[in-house]
Amino acid sequence: MPPTPPRRVRHRASLRIPEGQLAASRPAANQDEKRPTKKITKEICIACNEETYSTEIVQCASCPHKYCRACLESLFRLSLTDTTLFPPKCCGQLIPLETCRILLSPDLIKQFQDKKLEFDTPGRTYCHRPTCSTFLPPSTNPATCPKCLTQTCIKCKNAYHGTNNCGEDLATQEILRLATTEGWQRCPSCKTMVDLAHGCNHITCRCRTEFCYVCAALWRTCSCAVWDERRLLERANVIVDRNLAAEGAPGAVPAAQRHVLVQRQVQILVDDHECGHDGWSRLDGCYECDECYDILPWFIWVCRQCDLLACSRCRYNRL
Ligand SMILES: [Zn+2]
Ligand SMILES: [Zn+2]
Ligand SMILES: [Zn+2]
Ligand SMILES: [Zn+2]
Ligand SMILES: [Zn+2]
Ligand SMILES: [Zn+2]
Ligand SMILES: [Zn+2]
Ligand SMILES: [Zn+2]
Repeated sequence: MPPTPPRRVRHRASLRIPEGQLAASRPAANQDEKRPTKKITKEICIACNEETYSTEIVQCASCPHKYCRACLESLFRLSLTDTTLFPPKCCGQLIPLETCRILLSPDLIKQFQDKKLEFDTPGRTYCHRPTCSTFLPPSTNPATCPKCLTQTCIKCKNAYHGTNNCGEDLATQEILRLATTEGWQRCPSCKTMVDLAHGCNHITCRCRTEFCYVCAALWRTCSCAVWDERRLLERANVIVDRNLAAEGAPGAVPAAQRHVLVQRQVQILVDDHECGHDGWSRLDGCYECDECYDILPWFIWVCRQCDLLACSRCRYNRL
C-alpha cells in the first residue's frame, strides 16, 4: 500500500507534532540562534501593512517607513505614468533609487532612468499629436517626433507652423480662445492647460513648475492673491459640512452659527496655505481623497492643521 501523503493543515495550531520529535528539533533551533550571521527579522510595510522579511523590505532614508518589494515596485511603476508620484518619495523626501535597486527589476530601473531624463529636462517638449505625445529630447526648432515623424514647435509646443509667429495659426488660436472663456491657465513652462477646480491659486504643474493661476507667473513672483474669494468660500463650506457630518449634525446648525464656522475656516485656509501636513489623524468611514479624488471605503487621513483629507498613497507618496 502506498504511504498516505501528509494532510495539509491551514493553521499552525492544528499541526500536532509528537512530543519526541519536538524535543529532537530543539537543539538545532538553539544552534541557529547562536550563529553570528545577521538575523533576519520581520518588518511591516507601510503601504500594504503586511509583515515581510527584512531582506525583502526597504527602509526610507528620512522617515521611519518601510516598503516591501511589491509595494516599492508598484510605486516606481506608477510614478512612470503619474507625474504627481515622480520621483517616488515618502513623507516629502525622495526614496533614492540606490537604496531600492536591489528590490527592483533591471527593466523597471531602466524605464525609471529614462523617465528621470525626461522629467529633468526643463521646458520639455512632447509630440503635439495627442495620440502620440512622445517625449522629444532637446533639439533645434522644430523638433521631429521619432515615432510619428511629425514636427512640433519647441517654443509654443503646438504643430510646427513654419515661419508664422507662435500663436498665429488657427488651431492654437482656437485653444487660447477657449482657455479665455473657460478661465483656464497655461503652465508658463510646458504650456499645458490647467483648469483649477478647487483650491488656491498656487499651481504645481505636472512638469513640477509652480505658478500663479491668475497670471501664470512663476510662483511668488507676482502680487496676485493666493486665494480666489469664491473658491476660498467654496472650500471652507466643504470642510465645514464635512466636520458637521462627522459630528453627526449635518444641516442642524443655525445660519448664524454656520456663518461663524465658515469664517473661521476661511481664516484657517488663508493662514495654513503652505501647510506642511505634519500631523495626521485617522478618520473612519467612507471619504473622498481631496488630492486624487479616490473614494476610500474604510478610512482616510485628515491633516490636523488644514483639514485636508488624503488617502494613504497621497499622504505618504504625493504630498
Ligand atoms: Zn507592501
Ligand atoms: Zn514616510
Ligand atoms: Zn509623435
Ligand atoms: Zn510655435
Ligand atoms: Zn508645466
Ligand atoms: Zn499672479
Ligand atoms: Zn495640512
Ligand atoms: Zn489620494
